[in-house]
Amino acid sequence: MTAVQFNQDADGIVTLTLDMPGRSMNVLNEELTGPFSDAIAKIENDASIKGVIITSGKKEFLAGADIDKVYRMTDPAEAFAMAEAYKSFLRRLEKCGRPVVAALNGTALGGGLELALACHYRIAIDNPKAKFGLPEVKLGLLPGGGGTQRLPRLIGIQASLPLMLEGKELKAAQAKQQGIIHELAADKDEMFAKARAWIAANPKPVQPWDDKKFKWPGGDSKSPANAQVWAIAPSMASAKTWGNMPAPTNIMSSVFEGGITDFDTGCRVESRYFAELVVSQVSKNMIGTLWFQLNGINKGSSRPEGFERSTVRKLGILGAGMMGAGIAYVSAKVGIECVLLDTTQDAADKGKAYSAGLLDKAIKRGRETPEGKDAFLARIKPTTSYDDLKGCDLIIEAVFEDRGIKADVTRKAEAQLAKTAVFASNTSTLPITGLAEASERPKNFIGLHFFSPVDKMPLVEIIKGKKTSAETLARGFDYVQQIKKTPIVVNDSRGFYTSRCFATYPMEGLTLLAEGQHPRSIEVAGLQAGMPVGPLALQDEVSLSLSMHVLEQTRKDYAAEGKTVAEHPGVAVIEKMVRQLDRVGKKSGKGFYDYPQGGQKHLWPELTKHFPLAETQLPQQEMIDRLMYAQANEAAKCFEEKVVESVADTNIGSIFGWGFAPHQGGALQFINAVGLDQFVKRSKVLEKKYGARFKPARILVRMAKEGRRFE
Ligand code: NAD
Repeated sequence: MTAVQFNQDADGIVTLTLDMPGRSMNVLNEELTGPFSDAIAKIENDASIKGVIITSGKKEFLAGADIDKVYRMTDPAEAFAMAEAYKSFLRRLEKCGRPVVAALNGTALGGGLELALACHYRIAIDNPKAKFGLPEVKLGLLPGGGGTQRLPRLIGIQASLPLMLEGKELKAAQAKQQGIIHELAADKDEMFAKARAWIAANPKPVQPWDDKKFKWPGGDSKSPANAQVWAIAPSMASAKTWGNMPAPTNIMSSVFEGGITDFDTGCRVESRYFAELVVSQVSKNMIGTLWFQLNGINKGSSRPEGFERSTVRKLGILGAGMMGAGIAYVSAKVGIECVLLDTTQDAADKGKAYSAGLLDKAIKRGRETPEGKDAFLARIKPTTSYDDLKGCDLIIEAVFEDRGIKADVTRKAEAQLAKTAVFASNTSTLPITGLAEASERPKNFIGLHFFSPVDKMPLVEIIKGKKTSAETLARGFDYVQQIKKTPIVVNDSRGFYTSRCFATYPMEGLTLLAEGQHPRSIEVAGLQAGMPVGPLALQDEVSLSLSMHVLEQTRKDYAAEGKTVAEHPGVAVIEKMVRQLDRVGKKSGKGFYDYPQGGQKHLWPELTKHFPLAETQLPQQEMIDRLMYAQANEAAKCFEEKVVESVADTNIGSIFGWGFAPHQGGALQFINAVGLDQFVKRSKVLEKKYGARFKPARILVRMAKEGRRFE
């Protein structure tokens, strides 16, 4: 069977059906382009052919390039040749002298949409699940199949830039509204009927950019309106990326240069920028983690085998506070019936009102309807009665962070549940094994650690207690996927994985402050490192009083075990801020920053009075290294201690959980990219200068000696 089926009908219309054998999706590689190219040659040479319809035999149209191949490429000349080959083949298609229609039966992303853009006309089935876009930027790449040249010439430079710079994925109707798709169809029959009708009416179509009278919609790169865009867009992009992401820059360069030249030259320019990105360390980091490892997780690499997929139908949530309300929202969103329980009806109602608020916003943005809102809210039952929990297959406890209260609600809820129901705690700090002592069925007890705000954060950390069964883990995993979040699996330990590593980032920032580094330089170092916010701003968000509380609890727990905590030098800064200066963070409007009502936050001007500046200010790279090595080394320790067991979970947990610089591909990939040997050497230097926290994890020393890396 060939990947491209060629069928010519009595009217001379050829339907090319992309249907790669042995794959669930069509992807762009030689297996597809080879037979496709043969089919084009046939069309070019056969005068009886009057038109061409390109469609797919799979559920989706074409997912895009074969990422595996791109990932393995290290020679820019090879990457350039690949992009040129694909483009020349698309060029032949659009210049074959017959009308070519893309009949988009499903998703067309990346190279898939680029193929459609090289057709003269695009008709899509109005399937709400189908997505259209050029998302290459998310993997550190650019659309190398002519996307940066055709899209701006089709819809204008200004409209196309955000699509490529943000990698937005549009629904069929949105793509039509933007002028990317010409027509929608209700089903396949209608799509093909429309395609035939268009071919009959347009025997000799020419692509807009091949038309002698072509005019750029909205003007070319030199037009006054676009000159303004080019003056601002690059600085806006660098304000977001701090220069860490080469892809947005290359996309803009390709579009800009394409906008001052002819189409074919623009295409060659694009291939050069593409090749540069393909071989960059950033794209390797991003593809390795955010494509291969993430796909592995989504396919269940950390889910125990041998258990049938489970679905939660009725969910009980104990505690309707910030977290409980968010958990109810994300669960009801996917159709789960939720019981939201609190100590008073008022508190429970307030928890439900959180969903109503989010739905109102969605209605305003046209993403929800009033009927949809009503049906959504009908799935959340606010209550104070444990009786309502009957029939729940899962309970998630999100009451106050207090062992006694948690134990009490565990017993009360379990009394209402079937023996098979799973009980999960959303605790952020209390070991799961200890909490499970309150349970009659510790095998069914697990940690599901959500992040705030629940509706926005993509990760859930699943924590296995000592007695948690494999089946319970599988069911927890299935629920996290049911609510469309990414699960990572960790073992029970203080701070679990994400909270433990996350803390090293603000704590290093605080240490730098205590050493007399300028607070502004510290914040900028964090941002330059690729973190979403500076360490001091982050500590303000978390709140200094919460960190103080966790610290005191840790001291108590250690004392009870007869141990003392080896305290981080940043602790003294938190104590001083909270106890002496009464600055507890953003929630009180006063932390390392001032938060004036209705105004912009700014660093507290008195900070340098209380933490005087040192005579020697460190080079920026030294600060960046400290902030990054502190996190990566802690992640390696977690991996060594088997707190987290897979490289994929460690990397993805770091990016999705606490915002570890995505261009680095996660905490362990950061070490890979630096090189294990180099990382160990540099860590030893940092250890000597700044303290034991930089002592490289044993596993790193061992792996460096053996010449290994994290795979
Ligand atoms: P919150 O104070 O906003 O909400 C707690 C809710 O539990 C309140 O509505 C309270 O009335 C209710 N409650 C207290 N005792 C109860 C009882 N006996 N029965 C029923 N309801 C009771 O707190 P939160 O921020 O939502 O945190 C809840 C849990 O989630 C804590 O364990 C916390 O550590 C954890 N957590 C919080 C975050 C976060 O960022 N806030 C993140 C992850 C995990």
